[in-house]
Amino acid sequence: MSTSFVTMNNQESSSSTRLRRQKSSATLMDDTETTTSIVWFRKGLRVHDNPALSDALIEAKNGLKDERKKVLPLFIMDPLFCNAQKVGANRMNFLLQSLTNLNDNLRSLSSIDNAKSNDCLTVVIGKPIDVLRDVFMKFNVSSIYFEKEQVEPFGKHRDDEVIELCKNLNVHVKTYASHTLYDQEFLLSKASAKGIPPSTMGAFQKVLANVGEPPAPVPTPPKNSLRVIPGAGDVLSKEFKYANGIPTLEDLGYEAKNISFKGGKGGETEGLRRMRGALRRGGDGHKYVQEFDKPQSSPCQLFAKEKGNGTVKASNPFEMAKKAASSSLKEDFSLLWPSTTALSPHLKFGTVSVRQFYYELQDIMKNELKGKHTNPPTSLMGQILWREFYYINAYGTPNYDKMVGNRICKQIPWKNDPENLAKWESAQTGFPWIDAAMTQLKEEGWIHHLARHAVACFLTRGDLFISWEEGARVFDRDLIDADWALNNGNWMWLSASSFFYQYFRVYGPHSFAKKYDKEGAYVKHFLPVLKNMPSKYIYEPWTAPLEVQKKAGCIVGVDYPKPMVDHAIASKQCMAWMNEAYAAEKKEKSGEEKSNKKAKIGGATRSNNT
Ligand SMILES: Cc1cc2nc3c(=O)[nH]c(=O)nc-3n(C[C@H](O)[C@H](O)[C@H](O)COP(=O)(O)OP(=O)(O)OC[C@H]3O[C@@H](n4cnc5c(N)ncnc54)[C@H](O)[C@@H]3O)c2cc1C
Repeated sequence: MSTSFVTMNNQESSSSTRLRRQKSSATLMDDTETTTSIVWFRKGLRVHDNPALSDALIEAKNGLKDERKKVLPLFIMDPLFCNAQKVGANRMNFLLQSLTNLNDNLRSLSSIDNAKSNDCLTVVIGKPIDVLRDVFMKFNVSSIYFEKEQVEPFGKHRDDEVIELCKNLNVHVKTYASHTLYDQEFLLSKASAKGIPPSTMGAFQKVLANVGEPPAPVPTPPKNSLRVIPGAGDVLSKEFKYANGIPTLEDLGYEAKNISFKGGKGGETEGLRRMRGALRRGGDGHKYVQEFDKPQSSPCQLFAKEKGNGTVKASNPFEMAKKAASSSLKEDFSLLWPSTTALSPHLKFGTVSVRQFYYELQDIMKNELKGKHTNPPTSLMGQILWREFYYINAYGTPNYDKMVGNRICKQIPWKNDPENLAKWESAQTGFPWIDAAMTQLKEEGWIHHLARHAVACFLTRGDLFISWEEGARVFDRDLIDADWALNNGNWMWLSASSFFYQYFRVYGPHSFAKKYDKEGAYVKHFLPVLKNMPSKYIYEPWTAPLEVQKKAGCIVGVDYPKPMVDHAIASKQCMAWMNEAYAAEKKEKSGEEKSNKKAKIGGATRSNNT
């Protein structure tokens, strides 16, 4: 783990500034010698493996001068994101649950004198820079600790602004890279002298082989290590709303009826339980970890009702996925968990530390399975590595979330077609498999990786030829796990704009899911209008004779849309356009190379002549 410091220039000037700040404001402090450390939570909503929190508590306890130092755990909600146009209801709900759980877990660390305090975590709505300025004024703040944002431009800019403010006010800043396995700055420096990230998993694995293991998780701080400031929110400027307690969805203007994520609550307690449940899945022998093979997982399994302590009914989801493809099996597939872990919302918010996940998984692979298991890139460990792969690419690629100005992204003349985009977004394409997946996204805020593949391919190079940036925007709003590095990277992959270039391999919007769910249980679940359609027609209801449609209570074109394109024609056309775009880029590149060569030769000739 790497830490960076914006150190105080001089201790003397720092304390006099603090005194000045304190005198100039009405503060709650009863003792001018007391200083405060802020632990600023953003992602990393956990007390396990949280180096910013751990260091703040260690230093608050051990500082010679600051024996009386208090710690203010703080979460700031930027109003920019507190609306359903930016952040879908499922994600906001998951965040609020995670904050509630963080508050509880901080309370379990707090000292006897304030163990009963309800608000161990102070949650404030306001622009971070404004809130922090107010906090610095009111609480005689000497230091601030936080996990640094390494990739997302918005967060990087916010952090830079805050660091600048701290410099001006002589507040000591300590930042940590703990959202990923490695500090991305370190990783990229090891990957390439020129700052170019590896563009394939194979190349990335070679880099990893040379950098050693990621830093081990730091221990959870002990009980009684946190001395919080009860009622801290009351002291802050009244312009910041909800400074007392954690807001509800309704407080933020969301409608609670839009929530139906089935993958458990937000928060580290639930996240760790689910992570350990996944690692134990399949009972003794850790069969799940042993056999995890991403391409064999099914996009059509639904969230199950859990049995017992985190283990699930299906002993081997990969086996079950295979069986689901045959219509002979009479089991209720709605009683299966998704065949992947569904830990992504927890990794996104850092309610589960990716390093904790890595080390617990590695322990099972080494000590229980003795090396007999699937391997990256398709194994469970492989999935953790994919996450890191997209992070290093996001870190080392300017304009990563755009086509224009993005070095690794093919320049493709996508169509501007708001009408077709709206049909895709609102699950009205007329292809039941695509519409069911888009409905799951809208209703539950999560879909399986292969369902993401299908809808992303359909929108871009498969059928509609609409830009991946549009799709990424919709995912960014509606996914609980929306993650800037992973979302943009995977959209580039699926649209054959970067990382993957076989644009002629297109998913059939009516054939793909049959492989996993012959009966169409997934479609029927999310599109009840089709629930009585015979399985034979479930993926192509427009081919059912009118009599059959009538009997099923679903007439195509009346009760459910006709397919918006003829897939055979549309996909052929898309491939031709992709072919043209690739050829144009090749031509342009070779032209550039030629002129570079000429320039070099010209330069060399000149220099020879001089
Ligand atoms: C178009 C598209 C957009 C996507 N957008 C996101 C996003 O915004 N946020 C997000 O977390 N994932 C995204 N993914 C990647 C992937 O689909 C999800 O991480 C995965 O489906 C989450 O389910 P899981 O936790 O059960 O995964 P598991 O298979 O159980 O994997 C465990 C963890 O590994 C990581 N992981 C798995 N697959 C990938 C991958 N392909 N790329 C990067 N990391 C991976 C995730 O953190 C995941 O939680 C996207 C994929 C596509 C095709």
